[in-house]
Amino acid sequence: MYDILNRIKLIAGPCSAESKEQVLSVADSLNKMGIKIMRAGVWKPRSRPGTFEGVGEKALEWLCCAKEKYGMRIAVEVATREHLIKAISSGIDMVWIGSRSTANPFVVQEIADALSSELTSSESKIDHNTFTVIIKNPVNPDISLWCGAVERIKASGIGNIMLVHRGFTSYERSLFRNSPLWSLAIEMKRKYPSLPLLCDPSHIGGKREFVAQISQQAMDLMFDGLMVEVHPNPDRALSDSLQQLTPDMLEELLVGLNIRKNGKLPQNIGVLREQIDEIDKKIIALLGERVKISNEIGDYKKENNMPIFQNERYTLMLQERKSLSPQTGLSEKFIEDIIKLIHSYSVEEQLKK
Ligand code: PEP
Ligand code: MN
Repeated sequence: MYDILNRIKLIAGPCSAESKEQVLSVADSLNKMGIKIMRAGVWKPRSRPGTFEGVGEKALEWLCCAKEKYGMRIAVEVATREHLIKAISSGIDMVWIGSRSTANPFVVQEIADALSSELTSSESKIDHNTFTVIIKNPVNPDISLWCGAVERIKASGIGNIMLVHRGFTSYERSLFRNSPLWSLAIEMKRKYPSLPLLCDPSHIGGKREFVAQISQQAMDLMFDGLMVEVHPNPDRALSDSLQQLTPDMLEELLVGLNIRKNGKLPQNIGVLREQIDEIDKKIIALLGERVKISNEIGDYKKENNMPIFQNERYTLMLQERKSLSPQTGLSEKFIEDIIKLIHSYSVEEQLKK
């Protein structure tokens, strides 16, 4: 039993339940580590047809076997009313809404409606006090879809909701399978401070060698826990084989995790924060001045019937601003992102003329 398990919420288990032996083997390893919640996909949402789509409801029986043998809670993904009803009637007490489902309000509403029917039915096995719904972020970086899913599930009457941040699909090639865009998860924590926020480093990283580092970053950002994919033999896993850890790797990860203490900040941080507040005020005032000038240019372009967007000027401007990277210590990417944002605002303002 690791001290860390008293400090964070940990959900671990295979991407997919594949066989009774595999399910019981993972459950046994997790139980030895003192982990009390096991995850396993039963119905798998796959981007492409023809890939492994989960073994379906027969896995519910294997999972409930593990639940009884080790007294652990079990979480499965549900994407339809039928999935939810089957999961609840087999004794599952935790479900997650996957990222593809969160992106679709019809799907979330169907699950929310099914949950409220279960909560009001006298025949349902659902436990009002403990049943938990985990809501993963949508695949696309749209926080309102994530909030919408929380609102729909809350309205169903379910009291226990958790959030899982699993990163966002990105068009650009990057090291990780999904971009963390931590600021969106932080925004969710700000909006819903009472909902536990977990990080899924497996789906963010996409490769097992990244899982520990992403988990540590999540801890440094004060996430409340982790959902990690663990398989007895990841190389032979039927889904997400590259990103799953062996139980030994999970153990190593847990031992190595550092949890920062939430203490009182020293006084000089207050002084530094005041300086930052002042700088932010100056930045905003300068941006206001910049927009005024750009609006003047916009008037001139309109009067003279000139196009608003001038590619040559834009490319040159980006290049010049990025060249300030060494002297400012800011990365080229950061400078580029900021300039693009400022420029797109100016273009929008000029379009209003
Ligand atoms: C999963 O947890 O196995 C899964 C399919 O996750 P996501 O919805 O985050 O892709
Ligand atoms: Mn997976």
